[in-house]
Amino acid sequence: MSPRQRVALSEPSADEVRKTTCYMCACRCGINVHIKDGKIRYIEGNRDHPVNKGVLCAKGSAGIMQHYAPARLNAPLKRVGPRGSGEFEEISWEEALAIATDWLGTVRQNDPKKLAFFTGRDQSQSLTGFWAQQYGTPNYAAHGGFCSVNMAAAGIMTIGGAFWEFGAPDWERTKLFVMFGVAEDHDSNPIKMGIAKLKQRGARFVSVNPVRTGYSAVADNWIGIRPGTDGLLILSVIHELLKARKIDVDYLARYTNAPWLVIDAPGTAEHGLFARDGEGRVLVYETVTERVVPVGTKGARAGLSGRVQLQDGRFAVPSFQLLAEKYLDERYAPEKVARQTGLAVDTIRGLAGEIARVAFDEAISIDQPWTDMNGERHQAYIGRPVSFHAMRGLSAHSNGFQTTRALHLLQVLIGAIDCPGGFRFEPPYPKPLSAHPTPHGRAEHFGSNKPLSGPHLGFPRGPEDLLVDDEGRPARIDKAFSWDAPISAHGMMHMVIANAHAGDPYPIDVLFLYMANMAWNSSMNTAGTIKMLEDKDPATGEYRIPKIIYSDAYASEMVAYADLVLPDTTYLERHDCISLLDRPISEPDAVQDAIRWPVVEPDRDVRGFQTVLLDLGARLDLPGFTDGHGKALYKDYADYIVRHERRPGIGPLAGFRGPIGDRAGRGAANPDQLRRYIENGSFFSAHIPTEAQFFKHANQAYQDFAVRMGFFDTPQPVTFQLYQETLQKFRLSAQGLREPVAPQTHAARILEAFDPLPDWYEPLGEALVDGERYPYHAITQRPAAMYHSWGSMNAWLRQIHTRNPLYVPGPICDELGLADGDWAWVASHHGRIKVQVARMEAVNSSTLWTWNAIGKRKGAWGLDKRAPEATKGFLMNHLIHELLPLKKDGLRWSNSDPVTGQAAWYDLRVSIEKADACEESEPQFAPLAQPGRPEPHPAVLRYGQEWTK
Ligand code: SF4
Repeated sequence: MSPRQRVALSEPSADEVRKTTCYMCACRCGINVHIKDGKIRYIEGNRDHPVNKGVLCAKGSAGIMQHYAPARLNAPLKRVGPRGSGEFEEISWEEALAIATDWLGTVRQNDPKKLAFFTGRDQSQSLTGFWAQQYGTPNYAAHGGFCSVNMAAAGIMTIGGAFWEFGAPDWERTKLFVMFGVAEDHDSNPIKMGIAKLKQRGARFVSVNPVRTGYSAVADNWIGIRPGTDGLLILSVIHELLKARKIDVDYLARYTNAPWLVIDAPGTAEHGLFARDGEGRVLVYETVTERVVPVGTKGARAGLSGRVQLQDGRFAVPSFQLLAEKYLDERYAPEKVARQTGLAVDTIRGLAGEIARVAFDEAISIDQPWTDMNGERHQAYIGRPVSFHAMRGLSAHSNGFQTTRALHLLQVLIGAIDCPGGFRFEPPYPKPLSAHPTPHGRAEHFGSNKPLSGPHLGFPRGPEDLLVDDEGRPARIDKAFSWDAPISAHGMMHMVIANAHAGDPYPIDVLFLYMANMAWNSSMNTAGTIKMLEDKDPATGEYRIPKIIYSDAYASEMVAYADLVLPDTTYLERHDCISLLDRPISEPDAVQDAIRWPVVEPDRDVRGFQTVLLDLGARLDLPGFTDGHGKALYKDYADYIVRHERRPGIGPLAGFRGPIGDRAGRGAANPDQLRRYIENGSFFSAHIPTEAQFFKHANQAYQDFAVRMGFFDTPQPVTFQLYQETLQKFRLSAQGLREPVAPQTHAARILEAFDPLPDWYEPLGEALVDGERYPYHAITQRPAAMYHSWGSMNAWLRQIHTRNPLYVPGPICDELGLADGDWAWVASHHGRIKVQVARMEAVNSSTLWTWNAIGKRKGAWGLDKRAPEATKGFLMNHLIHELLPLKKDGLRWSNSDPVTGQAAWYDLRVSIEKADACEESEPQFAPLAQPGRPEPHPAVLRYGQEWTK
């Protein structure tokens, strides 16, 4: 019997199976929703779906309890009591939309920057960003700034792609897989399936993570590194590889900027920039004819070392020479970094040796002729079967950008990017930096009732692209793209409430949030954030953040602080679009996107947020949302998905385009497109031709395919940028050598953090606190069974994680006399919490940790006030402040990566001491009332009580 055939053991328990896309985490697996009598009976994985091939995780199967959760909001709400009281009245949609239109319309008329529109983990950023652009406020971003912008920014700037949604290990061929700090809730099923493949083939899996849980628990080797020092480990491995000459010189010369000449003229405005000819072409040194020629000169063999004199008399060196000199320095020797990383010298040297051995002694080859962008024909794909993956463990530190750059440098040095067995790009990536926009939001980019002249989020090419005024003051409420965090490509959502409360750089009128639990687990300094949301100006009696509009499907902690609540649907009641314009579900061999559709109709007075946003766009008469005469262009989000075109022939969905649905990528809108997706299991997949599947950054056939599919209008090959000229431009500004000159207050910080070659510095939060007073690291991990706070109201998932202990290394327990279940005070420079502890041995000896977002505020999420999440659970957030401690110069920087503005959640340092036994964790807050309901739902009460006993 084939594995696909199934024996019928009983009568079918459902009448109908509807195929859609899971939204219990961000992996977007295909699911079959079984429905009987209009009710969902159960959910299973879709075996035909390319992402999960039928695999379903605990979260996915528990989607039914998400859908029927009593914490669902029922109708639009208007606040009638003080903020935080939970006193709301239910209102009609017409009234809710009229209020929102009034607030938003007034702001747009008078000063559009006084709207701050930020979204959480939604998957419709190409729509929300477009809406904000058409509205005309500079203040828009999604949650990337507090999630993993360091991954995205470092990846795109270095290799034109990034881990997770933009690429994946070649699970079929890799022989050594090294994973840095990946959380089990992110990239959940795909990584599980990938690791299973490695295990079946006997490939080696090495996990670098301070905590051995989840994926790390099944790794062949666990490297329990000290948090924040991964960059040192990686640079030490690079040191070893360079010393042993285990690098792929041919790969470097072909695909990277290693040969590009860097001007050596200290004290001038060009020092450290690439040498260019009169036409702006970068120069290299041609070793056969011994001439300086433009990069790409036919037949040129560019040198990687030496010092040459340019025509204008200045000297220059290939960037690789700078690279080699830097990393061969003994400060990166394993002996020098062992103490800081907490690792043995042999571990570091062993990792480097294994990477070198597998990359070069076990190289693989696929016989497939292909042609590179220089027209050179290759007979095979040569593979270095070493792959890496990383996520928040590298990203959520204030040195995370440079650490992630270091990891990409390591990949490139051994020639393991987009080759067989290595890390592989997923379309539409790779994309060179030049294909990304610069940020928009300076005063000249917007004005009353006008759209912004370009997208909010992008990549500055130098200080001239910062969003600052003539005095250097930030243009955005979160201060993204200012001197504080120049390349904050995803914005800085974690700073919005604090800055808006302080009126710094200006006050706002309306804060509009979607799916972002900023009054609890998504904010640092949670208690302070709550106070800011409640705070009133004594002079006027008005809230300092005057109006808050919030959209969510559930009664999260944030709902209580909204003035107007727009209730969203569950993911099974709505249309959604997992788009190539946004964050698609492509695989290395295939272009893919997907939809969700209402497999059941809402039984409450709720509407999908995207449809509401389109309605508001029409009511506000935003360009792109009306026909210019006030008539709405789109009936709802489904209509938008089908008919919206970002460029001619390019819409949110790539599949089934054209009048008869036979076009992929480019093509006219097809009114039947959604039906075709539904018939196909709610996804679309187009295979990349075999001769285009590897070396996409330099593969002519792939580049042609990308143009055909509409990713680009012309080929956009990528040259990997190991040496980063953009960063050097900021350093020149900090030295006063380049306009605009960086403010003196920021100069030292930029010089420290903006090294054009990947670098390591001590995490800022760690460097500024007293290491003797706060001797331990404290981090969170994300459990496989919960995605952030999304499972908080889910009766099944709550049974897996109902409370979160603080896991404490055994030796610390012994020293303090702590046993499982004891209580302890944990303190940081900002605050202290009282928590229950659990002993753990498989953890870095200086690291305490707990699960993320399990702790809840009493009364939130429809839970009983005695639910263990609220009485025993806790948040580490209370210990973390959005600002770093005061420096000697009286300044407090944001607690972020100084390059990208990434929230530095994992820089936290703490102390721990034993506390008296007690019943509840601290701090505790006044219980929240269930908005729109007098009492929690009995079904949830039951779960809360059972687990309290
Ligand atoms: S991995 Fe994520 S998307 Fe896939 S089934 Fe689990 S929760 Fe759903």
